[in-house]
Amino acid sequence: MFDTLSDRLNNVFDRLRGRGALNEQDVRDAMREVRVALLEADVALPVARDFIARVTERAVGQEVLKSVTPGQQVIKIVNDELVTMLGGEDASGEATPLNLDVKPPAVVMMVGLQGSGKTTSTAKIAKLLKDKNGKKALMASLDVNRPAAQEQLAILGEQAGVATLPIIQGQQPVDIARRALESARLQNVDVLLLDTAGRLHVDEALMAEMKAVAAVSEPAEVLLVVDSLTGQDAVNVAQSFTEEVPLTGVVLTRMDGDARGGAALSMRAVTGKPIKFAGTGEKLDAIERFHPARVADRILGMGDVVSLVEKAAESIKAEEAEELAQRMMAGKFDMNDLRKQLQQMQNMGGLGMLAGMMPGMKKAKQAMAQSGMDDKVLVHMDAIISSMTRKERAHPQLLNAKRKKRVAAGSGTSVQEVNKILKMHQEMGRAMKQIKRMGGLKGLAAMFGG
Ligand code: GDP
Repeated sequence: MFDTLSDRLNNVFDRLRGRGALNEQDVRDAMREVRVALLEADVALPVARDFIARVTERAVGQEVLKSVTPGQQVIKIVNDELVTMLGGEDASGEATPLNLDVKPPAVVMMVGLQGSGKTTSTAKIAKLLKDKNGKKALMASLDVNRPAAQEQLAILGEQAGVATLPIIQGQQPVDIARRALESARLQNVDVLLLDTAGRLHVDEALMAEMKAVAAVSEPAEVLLVVDSLTGQDAVNVAQSFTEEVPLTGVVLTRMDGDARGGAALSMRAVTGKPIKFAGTGEKLDAIERFHPARVADRILGMGDVVSLVEKAAESIKAEEAEELAQRMMAGKFDMNDLRKQLQQMQNMGGLGMLAGMMPGMKKAKQAMAQSGMDDKVLVHMDAIISSMTRKERAHPQLLNAKRKKRVAAGSGTSVQEVNKILKMHQEMGRAMKQIKRMGGLKGLAAMFGG
């Protein structure tokens, strides 16, 4: 999914990340490349243009360019704007839910062109609502044009374990819809899914039929099914439908084979309609609710880094991080520094939070695990370091058995715990040296700074 686009964007970002400082021109150059990547991914031109304008405006701000890690900040801005482009209502980028909160049966009308994956998606969504939401579902095919369309839905219904309306040969779509509603009411069905007829193209007869079916069934949701592989055509189809029937959302199928992503990226901006589901394969459970934030993570391949940068930016002051990084590089990492460092970690949500988040962090975390470090130690460490004399803090090697005993007593802990902290200090010093080899000061700053 989105492989081509991912690769292109990551090339641009690798270069951004590899730079210690950025100026406005650097950002503009990078954005030119991002724009090309979006257009190659078949994103609609006005959408790409708008996206680049928004990212550039935010990214050339002084706060970003002067931060310790401007490259990371720019990437985070791109991520945020991607979430918005994909239809995230807020920063959480949650999936837009189905509105089934009506007097049952809630009718979900499925519309779309022939071959888009409409019938398959109808069965997938019915199964999802049954399995994940405990809904009682009924499906009915209103497709009287395509031979065997109704039989196809019946077979899928059997596979999905969802009931389908018995077929009466020769009955017309509006009458089938009426019968389905009646049957759903009698059987206390929660959700009635109507699989409407497809056509090869959007035409007047199709639209008239959709309107007539909508008029009798008063759907809570009208979902348009489009094939993501058709790129901008999918968006155009969505636009044509929107003008005729009140769509409430889009189902984007064949996302499993979509390396470009143009339909997913343009849909919301062009049509104003949220993508509610993504089809990811032929099997009946190959469907996902469309989470803009998660899709953006997939495109950028760096979800955890984004949240880490967010956390770090909240809790760490850039100058402090820079100073700490300098001291470490100079080999002056003493107990005072360790305390500051640990306090920052705690501000960031403890050790668990940091688990495996960044390549550089892994080393440091391994070192901590080896020295028996956990979040409880974070609570005790302040007391222990406070019980050391100033001299001991600056020169921890002074701590012999007698001094350790005194520190343990003073902090209400044990010599063992004092040893743990000393060991951790040593291990971290060692890990820092490794990190220095891996990425130098910049890598370290990226680890601790926002
Ligand atoms: P309809 O004419 O719109 O009802 O289309 P169908 O539901 O019959 O689907 C047409 C073909 O597309 C079938 O072979 C499906 O298995 C396949 N298909 C549907 N959705 C997906 C999807 O998300 N991924 C993949 N790989 N195939 C899909």
